[in-house]
Amino acid sequence: MKTSIATVSISGDLREKLAAIAAAGFDGIEIFENDFLAFDGGPREVGRMVRDHGLEIVLFQPFRDFEGLPEPHRARAFERAERKFDVMEELGTDLVLVCSNVSPAALGGIDRAADDLRQLGERAARRNLRIGYEALAWGRHVWDHRDAWEIVRRADHSNVGLIVDSFHTFARKIDPQSIRSIPGDKIFFVQLADAPLIDMDLLYWSRHFRTMPGQGDLDVTAFSGAVAATGYAGPWSLEIFNDQFRGGSPGAIAADGHRSLVALMDAVRRSEPEIAVELAPMPAPITVQGVEFIEFAANETEAADLTKMLGSMGFGHAGRHIAKDVDLYSNGGVNIVVNTEREGFAHSAYRMHGTCVCDIGLRVEDATATVERARALGTEAFEQPVGPGELKIPAIRGVGGGLMHFTDDKSGLAKMWETDFIRRRETAPDMGITHIDHIGQTMNYEELLTWLLFYTTLFDVEKTPMLDVVDPAGLVRSQVIQNDQGTMRFTLNGADRRSTLAGHFISESFGSSVQHVAFASSDIFKTAAALARTGFERLTISANYFADIQARFGLDDAFTEALKSSNILYDRDGDGEYFQLYSTLYGDGFFFEIVQRRGGYNGYGAANAQFRTAAQKRALTTHAANQDDSRPRSTWSGRQATTSGAR
Ligand code: MG
Ligand code: MG
Repeated sequence: MKTSIATVSISGDLREKLAAIAAAGFDGIEIFENDFLAFDGGPREVGRMVRDHGLEIVLFQPFRDFEGLPEPHRARAFERAERKFDVMEELGTDLVLVCSNVSPAALGGIDRAADDLRQLGERAARRNLRIGYEALAWGRHVWDHRDAWEIVRRADHSNVGLIVDSFHTFARKIDPQSIRSIPGDKIFFVQLADAPLIDMDLLYWSRHFRTMPGQGDLDVTAFSGAVAATGYAGPWSLEIFNDQFRGGSPGAIAADGHRSLVALMDAVRRSEPEIAVELAPMPAPITVQGVEFIEFAANETEAADLTKMLGSMGFGHAGRHIAKDVDLYSNGGVNIVVNTEREGFAHSAYRMHGTCVCDIGLRVEDATATVERARALGTEAFEQPVGPGELKIPAIRGVGGGLMHFTDDKSGLAKMWETDFIRRRETAPDMGITHIDHIGQTMNYEELLTWLLFYTTLFDVEKTPMLDVVDPAGLVRSQVIQNDQGTMRFTLNGADRRSTLAGHFISESFGSSVQHVAFASSDIFKTAAALARTGFERLTISANYFADIQARFGLDDAFTEALKSSNILYDRDGDGEYFQLYSTLYGDGFFFEIVQRRGGYNGYGAANAQFRTAAQKRALTTHAANQDDSRPRSTWSGRQATTSGAR
């Protein structure tokens, strides 16, 4: 499989773009004329620079407003084409994209367009160049790849072929399966882009909101499967116009692009087993069976605060690492590791972020296969020396710099608590806590799509539609990824303003990502009663909230009172019910949550986020007023956060 990306997809000057594209592993580029018009060297120099990066120019674009013109426009269009051909020869590329005419001067008629393309093909052939014709979704007469194909078919010239673009096909709601009837050797080039479904002007949508395949709502896999079924053997190229990407890090965006292409072609191979896809084999998307552990990095003082808080939720000291300053606290099926080592990854994480979640352990069927798939997708495996008698647990670097470890039954990795830890007999009270329901991660809004792609390509998960959660100080964009079994649930919260709690959390912890961990309870009222005995400081919810939900859901007095007296938030979806209770905020905005799902409720209580935000803000003000400021700054030493909208 030959991979390519349009230079317009990423930020930077041409040199930066090429370096990032080459480093991400692409084979080629589509070059945009503007990219080298702004460059201080001629086309020959650009071509040399591209080749010096080990890349190939697989397409030159765009050549606009060509076909169907009356004279004298027509003669001038051919003249313009010859000048483009000159540039292409100097660049060292043989294929030009001719997009369907948008000019008011253009005349309709398939035969007229075919005649023009045939003549252009004739001129191109003299120079050993090729013409690829693409239907723009907003073309004046041609906006459907089926019409574009008919024009190419009638042009009947070996140097004239079709270019298909997933965005244009989906923008016009054309069934991509219609591509299957086109001969693969007449498709000269394939451009791929995804996009969120937004009802707006097509041109504006296209120029600002395209995303990498897998980051939006279009079925790019079905599109690519249809193209692959034709026997198409050319490059698979990303053409992404996105304001955010143009402002992002060239390296990160290029890496996302390459990852999205590999995952896409892997998905095509799985959905179309009879089609040969030229891509090294890799394990299928990984099913996560549950969260094995959450690991915090801390210093001794802050570890004491943390373990006190864990104790207030009934977590007992369940073990100590055989050789390291690493302790295990457990309750129900939840394992929390607290790492106060003075070296290694956790210590680096502590120095960078203060007390933070530095590692997430996930249970999978095959830990080795998980790392193998991650590596095939361009993720770095992580290795740290292990001592004698310790298990070597497969791990990767997660997208925010944190670690992810994977445990499985088959290789005995689930036994790490017995092999690596000296267990304590301390019995933990029955709190009704069973497992980790979800993990809430916070990142800058610009990075949300990167995180999303990381999870959706590695794991067998679905993403739910993106929600805007209102924080009084700004917006938090919230996107959930989860699997059908409910054994993997992550809420990703993209903060666009520093003044939101999510934004504050990011800036104060220098990018630490896990902002909350939610435990699942089998009986929230039992858990609430137990928490009252263990001294848990819970978030107090306003009386107005309970009056509101009583009216909204028609709850009876006794039930409402039970919720209110325990500060339990409530939500309902059909027959499903959801109960949430929160710890107060710690440090720069971290919190624990305890939830119960009943009757198949599959959401996260988004409707409650504003009420909870207000409560967190009140609790913080009190906390800040009572805090002892003599301790050194850290995420856990009670710095004041502002408000929260993240769910
Ligand atoms: Mg295109
Ligand atoms: Mg939550």
